[in-house]
Amino acid sequence: MLRIGCHLSSAKGYLAMGREAVKLKANTFQYFTRNPRGGAAKPLDVADMEAYAAFAKEHGIDQILAHAPYTLNACARDESLRTFARNTMEDDLYRLSYLPSSMYNFHPGSHVQQGVEVGIDYIAELLNELLKPEQKTIVLLETMAGKGSEVGRTFEELRSILDKVELQEKMGVCLDTCHVYDAGYDIVEHLDEVLREFDQVIGLDRLRAVHLNDSKNPMGSHKDRHEKIGEGSIGLEAMVRIINHPALRDLPFFLETPNEPEGYAKEIALLKEHYV
Ligand code: FE
Ligand code: FE
Ligand code: ZN
Repeated sequence: MLRIGCHLSSAKGYLAMGREAVKLKANTFQYFTRNPRGGAAKPLDVADMEAYAAFAKEHGIDQILAHAPYTLNACARDESLRTFARNTMEDDLYRLSYLPSSMYNFHPGSHVQQGVEVGIDYIAELLNELLKPEQKTIVLLETMAGKGSEVGRTFEELRSILDKVELQEKMGVCLDTCHVYDAGYDIVEHLDEVLREFDQVIGLDRLRAVHLNDSKNPMGSHKDRHEKIGEGSIGLEAMVRIINHPALRDLPFFLETPNEPEGYAKEIALLKEHYV
């Protein structure tokens, strides 16, 4: 069975997201842990999380994906921004300890002229401070498009971060199809080779989730503009190969395409139809 869902608003809580997912015929979903632009999270609502857990079990929703706010920059030059990133991630991971079925994805960060090595060191330092041996939540580094000074535009950069993290068993990678294509990996014409490279550099056992997005721009453009499935430069045929690829087909897929709920429902139905 294809594990597929889309990005949902977390404004009304977990149970509401579970209901929305079922309505869209999704069996998983992604959500922001708080306002994507940063700021305080809503008070922790354990009753809502418990109600959600029961609902999810009943409706066959298993693992979901929490997404850190994209303003979180673990390798910012400004120390107060790094502290914000640390505090935010610490609070997010604490909250997720009440919901063991959610993984946690974040953008590694932007090194802003400090150089990629400095960026990698800061990111690993923050993870080493926050990851705990007893935690159940797996933390995912997202593959990035390479916009500006984003860290994580190559598999090697992600590998370098992972290499510096002590509790590696708590870490994984989320592959964003729009981002890797934007970063210059040809998943349209050479999917097998790209996945082989991923395996050699990072290890396919680290790959835990896929962000399934088409791209508004050609390969290698480093722009990070998502497009609806089949309407961008990646195209439907390549998307179908991706969801069916033996190395990917059992992973959860999350749509982050520019859509309203009806658009997501259509894409979910379309992709299910093409899953063999
Ligand atoms: Fe993301
Ligand atoms: Fe993404
Ligand atoms: Zn993106």
